[in-house]
Amino acid sequence: MEDVAIIGSGCAGMGAAIYAARAGMSPLVIEGAQAGGLLTTTSDVENFPGFPEAVNGFDLVWKMRQQALKFGAHIESAVVESVDFSSDPKILRLESGGKIEAKKVIIATGSSPRMTGAKGEKELYGGLGVSACATCDGAFYRGENVAVIGGGDSACEEALFLTRFCSGVKLVHRRDQLRATQIMQQRVLTNEKIQPVWDSVLEEVLADESGRCRAILVKNLKTGGVSEIPCKCVFVAIGHTPNTKAFAGAVELDSEGYIKVRDEIKTSVEGVYAAGDCADKKYRQAITAAASGCKAAIAAANNF
Ligand code: NAP
Repeated sequence: MEDVAIIGSGCAGMGAAIYAARAGMSPLVIEGAQAGGLLTTTSDVENFPGFPEAVNGFDLVWKMRQQALKFGAHIESAVVESVDFSSDPKILRLESGGKIEAKKVIIATGSSPRMTGAKGEKELYGGLGVSACATCDGAFYRGENVAVIGGGDSACEEALFLTRFCSGVKLVHRRDQLRATQIMQQRVLTNEKIQPVWDSVLEEVLADESGRCRAILVKNLKTGGVSEIPCKCVFVAIGHTPNTKAFAGAVELDSEGYIKVRDEIKTSVEGVYAAGDCADKKYRQAITAAASGCKAAIAAANNF
């Protein structure tokens, strides 16, 4: 039986693993379908403290992994399919058919950005001109024209953030009214650099000869007309989906599927903690995820 099982191997999972290992808990990390988490899909990370020259997202999580292993964490390549937290020890059932028993569990499964499914979107995602994170990638498009897809607070926030670097931001929304809060709408609609493209959806991301985004095709849902918008990157901001399907019914989730926490990291079940984006729809940063992993491990080690 494990003292503590950590589900997820991104910044939150590895933050938890480093602290749990150093507390002598010999944690088992179940790394999930995407080893290293969402950050591995980002090229340069420029906002993680300690790396003034930026660090590759993959390298950063890999360094965390090495650090966790160095202090005695174990990593298993497996995906948790379902859990039973009503028993003691807690039971994790794996997709492979295996079973893990643990006294304590830290859930750090992150979230996945929702994508539109448009042609070219998947192929150019992660450094070639399709992104789901302006904070991570916006600065690479200094002086360029970019596009944002979505009409909620996230899309407005992304668009406003991008105006710091980019010469123009086309905000492509499927209706003629934003969903975002009034103040965000006002900021976006009065910003000279942001031009809304109403009633429109992303049809295709077009690549240049080097395979990087050069333009997008958008379809007007009212007229059916398709137009080409030149841009070097398209930021998709149509919401995130927390990766919490395996925990439905086992811990309390909110209406959007995020794990409900009190004291920052405690779930509704004693001895089960949640860290990072699976429980955080507000900050969603590498550093905040790593920090909450650290808190969850300290809480688990000290029976907080
Ligand atoms: P959201 O509020 O659900 O908005 C998603 C947007 O994407 C909507 O405008 C939606 O269009 C559009 N959309 C959804 N699926 C689409 C698709 N397949 N193709 C094209 N467009 C699509 O998500 P969010 O903006 O990520 O916000 C999530 C929550 O976090 C909200 O409660 C928000 O208030 C909060 N949040 C707050 C802040 C802040 O306070 N600063 C910042 C970010 C997020 P429709 O409008 O037509 O449905």
